[in-house]
Parts: sequence; C-alpha cells; structure tokens
Amino acid sequence: NRQSRIRNFSIIAHIDHGKSTLADRILEETSALTKREMKAQMLDAMDLERERGITIKLNAVQLAYKAKDGETYTFHLIDTPGHVDFTYEVSRSLAACEGALLIVDAAQGIEAQTLANVYLALENDLEIIPVINKIDLPNAEPERVRQEIEDVIGLDASDSVLASAKAGIGIKDILEQIVEKVPSPQGDPNAPLKALIFDSMYDPYRGVVAYIRIVEGTVRVGDKIKMMATDKTFEVIELGVSTPKIVMRDELSVGDVGFLTASIKNVKDVHVGDTITNAIKPAAEQLPGYRKMNPMVYCGLYPIDSSKYNDLREALERLELNDSALQYEPETSEALGFGFRCGFLGLLHMEIIQERIEREFGIDLITTAPSVIYQIETVDGESHRVDNPSKMPEKKEIESIEEPFVKATIMTPNDFVGPVMELCQGKRGDFIDMVYLSENRVNIIYHLPLSEIVYDFFDQLKSSTKGYASLDYEFLGNRPSKLVKMDILLNNEKIDALSLIVHQDFAYERGKAIVEKLKELIPRQQFEVPIQAAIGQKIIARSTIKALRKNVLAKCYGGDISRKRKLLEKQKEGKKRMKTVGRVEVPQEAFMAVLRIN
Ligand code: GDP
Ligand code: MG
Repeated sequence: NRQSRIRNFSIIAHIDHGKSTLADRILEETSALTKREMKAQMLDAMDLERERGITIKLNAVQLAYKAKDGETYTFHLIDTPGHVDFTYEVSRSLAACEGALLIVDAAQGIEAQTLANVYLALENDLEIIPVINKIDLPNAEPERVRQEIEDVIGLDASDSVLASAKAGIGIKDILEQIVEKVPSPQGDPNAPLKALIFDSMYDPYRGVVAYIRIVEGTVRVGDKIKMMATDKTFEVIELGVSTPKIVMRDELSVGDVGFLTASIKNVKDVHVGDTITNAIKPAAEQLPGYRKMNPMVYCGLYPIDSSKYNDLREALERLELNDSALQYEPETSEALGFGFRCGFLGLLHMEIIQERIEREFGIDLITTAPSVIYQIETVDGESHRVDNPSKMPEKKEIESIEEPFVKATIMTPNDFVGPVMELCQGKRGDFIDMVYLSENRVNIIYHLPLSEIVYDFFDQLKSSTKGYASLDYEFLGNRPSKLVKMDILLNNEKIDALSLIVHQDFAYERGKAIVEKLKELIPRQQFEVPIQAAIGQKIIARSTIKALRKNVLAKCYGGDISRKRKLLEKQKEGKKRMKTVGRVEVPQEAFMAVLRIN
C-alpha cells in the first residue's frame, strides 16, 4: 500500500557541509523540477537565506522516487537550519520524520553542530544515514572521516555514501539508502486524526497556513477540525503539498507532510507544536508537543520614523507566527521613543529578524545593543528579571545579581588548544574538561557567561583558530556575578539606550573603549559634544567630539551642482540610520558600539 512506500527524512549537518546543495540534487534527481525551474538552493526560499547562504526556516517538499526495486516511493524532505541559534527549528523538523541524512564534510570532518544534531536525531528515534560529502575536494579525506563517524558518534559508517553534492556524485545511492533504511510511517489511517503542526505562516488571502505531518488518521477538505491546545474549531478549506510547486489534495493521510488552510484569521489560534484533530471524532490525547525555547538575548527595536510604530507591531506579529522563539513587548526609551523589547535565541536570529523587518515590511530600525537577562534581588526582598540594562535598580538597592552561564563545547584540532583556552579565560570562562575525540581532535569544555558569548566570541574563536574550531553551547543556569551598570552620557545627558551591564573588574577598560569607539562613530555636530561613561555618579571615562569648523561647512556650498547633489544624497542616506537624541545625531552603529570593541 501507499503508506509503506512513504519515507520522511531530514538532512542534518554542521553549517556549510552541504545540506542545501544536496537538497537541490535530490530535487533534480527526483525530477521535481525541470532544469529551468531549478534555482540554486531551491529550498532556501527567502532572499535573505540565499544571500547569506544559510538556511533559516525549515521547509518541506514531497517528491516521487522510482527506486531500483521498480516501486515509486513518496519522499517528504524536510530541510533544517544548521546554525546554533536555530536548534529549535531542527528539533521541530526532526519530530516530523523517521530518518535523517547526516552530512559530514569530507575535508572538515565532524564539527560541534554535527554532534549536536546527531543527539537531536537520536532523541527523536530517527534512523541516521551518514553521508560523506565534498569528496571532490582535493583535501578530502573520506576514509579518515568515516573512521571519525564510527569513533566519535558510534554509528556504523561502513556503508556510508561517499558523495559530492556539488558534482552530483552518489546521489542515487543516497536515495536508495533512504528507501532501504528509513522506516515507513506507522499509524492507522482510520484512527481519529492526529496532525502535528510543525510550522505555519500567514497568507493575506487564505489566512493562516499550517504545515502538518499526519501521525494518525486522515483529514479531508470540508472536515471540521479542532486545535487541541486552544479548543478552537474550523472547517478545512484547502489541503496540499509542495513539490515544491503547490499541489492541492482532497485528503492527507498517515505519513503525509503538507499544508492545511481553514480560514483561520487569528494567528494566535495556531500553535506550532499543537495537534490538529477531527472535531466530530477527536483523538483522546495530544501528540507530545515541542519544548518551548526561551529567548537568550534581548534588544530594543525602534522605528526611526516614530509614525511607523504600529507597522512595526504588525510586522512582529507576523514574524512571530512562524518563529515561535521570537518574543516582544512594548518598551519606551527616553532617547528613542516608542519601540519594542524583543527576545531572540541568539545574535544571528536577532540580525535576521531585524533585516526581515526592514526588507519585507519596509521599516527602518534602530536596534540597541543586545543584552542577556539578569536576575536581580533587591534589598526589599523582591526579585527582578532585567532584560534591559537601563532598567537595572540603583546600586544601593541591589542585594545580589545573577547572570546566565552556558556550557560551551568547542571542538578544535590539537594545534589550537592554546589559543582557544586563552580566549575563554579572557571571557571570564571556567575550564571544565578537555576530551580527545581522535588523535588530532579535541573537545574543550568551558563554563562561560552568556553575555560574553553573544558579543563577538564566535568571530574571535574563528579568527584565533584559522576557522577550524566550532562551537556549540547549552544554557546552564544563573550564577552570581559582580556586575555593575554603566551609563553613557552624550552632551551631559544620560542616554538610556546606551546603558550596559559590565563586570566590575572590566568596567574601567570597557568604559574607556566604549567612549573612544563612540567618538569615532558619532559624526561631528555644530557644537562640541562631550561623551562620558559613568558608574552611579562617578565618571570613569570621558572624551569629546569636536565641533564642526565653520570653514568646513562652507566648502559644502557653491562648487559644481552634481557634486553638491551627491553630497546631499549621501547625507540623506546617512540620515536614514540616524536618530536625534537630545540635540545630538546618533548613527545606528553607535548603539552597537559595545559589540565592536577590542
Ligand atoms: P549548508 O550550510 O549545509 O546548507 O551548505 P550549502 O549547501 O549551502 O554548501 C556550503 C558550501 O559548500 C557552498 O559553497 C557549496 O557550493 C559548497 N558545497 C556543497 N557541497 C559540495 C561538494 O560536494 N563539493 C564541494 N567542493 N563543495 C560543496
Ligand atoms: Mg543551507
């Protein structure tokens, strides 16, 4: 029967090992698209993904594969993101599958995220099929990597496929292994419906589109359905699959992965991780949902044009729909006006949301420097979660402060153990352990304050190891720290959006560096602007932006007209990213100055 010929799988890998490229090859091989329709990295639907070369949103396609045994199989391929910020979406995709292709770069070998993803796949009881990719590279060492997969992960890699997604080598073998090794979906097509919502999006014409995996039962157009978490009922209007062209269906049954619309106008009625059941013949219990991912990093988002505040709220509402890890609430800043405090999984997640708001919704933003959540006990016995440095209570009111720590696992070749440890020590890290994975590969474990990681840890790690080290981290919990609030004053006015929380022992150093950085970033004004860093009433660092000289200004007038226009346009361009704070024009970069020091 059809159900026994369904195979649901994901592709998991460390970033850049070739997931998206392999997905393209699989799409070609299953003739889902003609060559002309084939855009490179078809599954990375958003422009942003294609430009940055990373996969952000998971995506599912249905493919038909005629196997060597003469049967035609239905494949559902679910692409997953590879960056550490998006582990949540990886685990969502995996819950909809029975198997996973594990891609390992034949030149790089196993990296931190390879392991992290394998653990997620194992948690979901998936059959893992190792694929050694990029064997076309001159420095490929497929045999060494095969051994590494056996030694480090403990998987039998004896018949793992040696492939090149780029050159199209080994693709057929991969597809045959999917048929052979990935189990077909279990479940009774006649049982009460249980459909797992693993993603959703909003379409202005059709309402909410829910992406579902049918675990039990069958759903048909016209059925009355119920969302088990919210008890809301709807009537199914459309069912379909993406091939990746949209194909409408009358029904979806056990094992199918597709989409459903039901004139759902309120995005809040559809929870990713919820179970859809039949309203007339409901299932007794929900499928196990997803664990809620909590944001780790917070920042303020403010529209440069204050009249865009409501547009910004709408944009966030839309984005939240298919990004359940995004959180936001209204916030006011003396310096920046009305905006939102937003929570993200990490810095990349934050940058992507910011860029999507600007591109897809046309709202120019000022973002404040990211902050972690500090747990503060005050002397009156109250406890506070502070996600915005400017909201930190006065020093004399504070009993204790705790900050989040993570367990960081850094995988690196032997040669870089020294630089990695030096970097971690400089970031207030506690050395925990060092484990040899193979002759030349070692896992170094540190406990580190999350706030040190969200700044520029990753970039520094890459540059101090020639790009060889990789990082994975998990949240450990809060720990007491000697932290103080540092205020920044521009033109003698405290700018709340520039306040930050620093470790006491690094305060002077940081203060000096930030004041110098701001002097570089803030353009000269008509008047002199003093910049100061203060802890409480005490100024710990200062610097001054000199006033523009009159004759410099004079040069802007007269002269030939095209040069003047160019200058004006340039100014306008610059203006877009400027916010007037008090009397001072402050560019976006200044709000991020804390990230760019050292
Ligand atoms: P992802 O981050 O895992 O999705 O990786 P991508 O599919 O985006 O690939 C990352 C980079 O590796 C791209 O520049 C690809 O062109 C390249 N790449 C992917 N597969 C191969 C391969 O088999 N051989 C070579 N030489 N390069 C590859
Ligand atoms: Mg990709």
